[in-house]
Amino acid sequence: MAQAFPHVFTPIQVGTQTLPNRIVMGSMHTCLEEDPDDYGKIAAYFAERARGGCALMVTGGFAPTIEGRMLPRPNTFTTEEHMEAHRQIPAAVHAEGGRILLQLLHAGRYGYHPDIVAPSPIKSPINKDTPREMTDADIEATIDGYANSCRLAEQAGYDGVEFLGSEGYLMTEFLAPHTNKRTDRWGGSLENRARFVREVVSRSRAAVSDDFILMFRLSVWDGIPDGSTADEIVQTAKWIEEAGANLINSGVGWHEAQIPTISQAVPRGGWTFATRRIMGEVSIPVVASNRINMPETAEEIIATGGADMVSMARPFLADSALVAKAEAGLSDRINTCIACNQACLDHYFTAQPITCVVNPRAGRETELLVTPAASPKKVAVIGGGPAGMSAAATAAERGHQVTLFEAGEKLGGQFLLAREIPGKEEFGETLRYFTNRFADLGVEVRLGERAAANDVSSHDEVVLATGVDPRIPEISGIDHPMVVTYAELLSGAKQAGERVAVIGAGGVGVDVSVWLTEKGHNSHLNHAEFRATWGIEQEVATSPPAHQVTLLQRSEGRMGNGPGKSTGWVHGISLRRAGVEMLAGCTYEQIDDDGLHITVKGDPRTIECDTVVICAGAESVLDLQAEIEAMGKPLHIIGGAKMAGELDAQRAFDEGVRLAAAI
Ligand code: NAP
Ligand code: SF4
Repeated sequence: MAQAFPHVFTPIQVGTQTLPNRIVMGSMHTCLEEDPDDYGKIAAYFAERARGGCALMVTGGFAPTIEGRMLPRPNTFTTEEHMEAHRQIPAAVHAEGGRILLQLLHAGRYGYHPDIVAPSPIKSPINKDTPREMTDADIEATIDGYANSCRLAEQAGYDGVEFLGSEGYLMTEFLAPHTNKRTDRWGGSLENRARFVREVVSRSRAAVSDDFILMFRLSVWDGIPDGSTADEIVQTAKWIEEAGANLINSGVGWHEAQIPTISQAVPRGGWTFATRRIMGEVSIPVVASNRINMPETAEEIIATGGADMVSMARPFLADSALVAKAEAGLSDRINTCIACNQACLDHYFTAQPITCVVNPRAGRETELLVTPAASPKKVAVIGGGPAGMSAAATAAERGHQVTLFEAGEKLGGQFLLAREIPGKEEFGETLRYFTNRFADLGVEVRLGERAAANDVSSHDEVVLATGVDPRIPEISGIDHPMVVTYAELLSGAKQAGERVAVIGAGGVGVDVSVWLTEKGHNSHLNHAEFRATWGIEQEVATSPPAHQVTLLQRSEGRMGNGPGKSTGWVHGISLRRAGVEMLAGCTYEQIDDDGLHITVKGDPRTIECDTVVICAGAESVLDLQAEIEAMGKPLHIIGGAKMAGELDAQRAFDEGVRLAAAI
């Protein structure tokens, strides 16, 4: 059955071990690492992914010394006590037939605490503290710290470790002249700058058995001035192999580099070009990483010699059974990671345990249980957007008999509109997933059917997930023919002229502005265009925007970045490059043939335009509520129908699963 992905499912030798396939679950910090009381949750989370066929997994980062911790609250792995607390994690994975590596991450100057250390006392632009320069004795003790952590990791039952030598953390700080200005044996020539990582690997190898896997995550592209060059990276890879590593994984871009590395702006497999340079230069397997979310991409990378293996991280949040489905030739049944970062990376940045927009059970394997229903019921779900789809699928998984009514011709609701935005084409994968899921589960999907109350009269439970309609603000001239809603524009029902004013700069206003300016550009789909657009190893190539856009909001404050902490800056850069004018503090006065008349900080102004797009939020659609309640039916309202303000996809999917898990 593995014929669909013959390269992915060819076993590979890693050190003394034979792995059954070529997919690694890459490291992600879950925000549970700092509390050993939560390690049971981590164990359950990895066990589910091992059960889903993943052969080799990597934990979130643990520090080999106290100074190397990421946060004030330590997540060190340095003592017998730590080792004992961890035992349950590899044990749970082994019970499911998987293998797991502990990631060792010394944060260097990226740590968020006052005790940070680095090769040289150079402040990072993304940290307020300046690191203390490490002494020779500090460096020696840190290398011994890595070796000690490796020894303890083997005792805890881990199959190996991953050294995080990328993204701008301590190991990269030694390697790059940008942050290593030392004149002793640890700085200057490449040989001296690489001495630290070589010593870490060789002393760690000496501390563990031959069966213990040492994987090194090497920065294959730094993206900073005075970073390691491509030739230096290849040479470092050779030295890492010589020192005793069994696998080289790829890391891309320092955190301070303003280049997208994993967001929707990156095409699938968009960074493999950098990993490919190491292929043939070392004899140990090389792993490609970043924006590889489906087995088709993995297969192509391995088949074309881009890497020996691939690492996927977020895709295992979206679907824990990804590998098993690929092996069974059921890739069209995979719940695909849509690269939104909303519930994973954005949660990490706000210190919340990570989960997944399209799979709310991720990271909550011990809490959000979907068990067979005690007494199967007839459940009607009205509305086939994110909330309705997740409720219908989960209810059917539990054995309920589900009918899903969707007034439109297709499933998706707001996701149907969102997938029109450049980079959000991946949202179409979610719709494909649910369509197939409903077929497998026997959900009766009634498309193009606006449900009436009497359609649900025979059902035991009714779920109202009828979503939202765009809010139409009260502005004089709002009925002018040049005014369109975001829904009319993105659905293709109406077109925009050359000059466009966008009212409302929330998530949708920013998305619509990106759509208007980037129409016809494919940098998020095309590798060469991606590298040109972001100036990766070449000059930035700009192309004229498809529309001239003015983006407006009533409130004061920064505009244009959109809601995502880890992705908003990408939109901000794109909109500024496209010349989008952003006006905060606006009062909308009138719309007429001359355009949109506003007052900005007391000054009247006319935005001359051909089209005004309304992106002023949304209002709940609750047409059926009163009638169904009058029938005395148990009625559950979820998603945008429940709360339109601050509705987002994460809440919609989450509410759908939680409700269906409980009825
Ligand atoms: P939103 O984020 O609430 O933004 C609506 C905008 O309309 C606000 O900027 C508001 O700002 C303006 N507005 C509200 N009432 C108005 C009125 N009566 N007249 C004129 N302007 C008005 O809503 P949204 O943009 O529709 O987004 C909906 C949800 O989807 C949000 O939770 C959003 O975070 C989420 N979303 C997320 C992403 C993502 O990439 N993660 C993308 C799209 C949407 P002022 O009052 O200052 O003008
Ligand atoms: Fe992928 Fe978004 Fe889920 Fe993160 S939240 S794993 S980016 S789908």
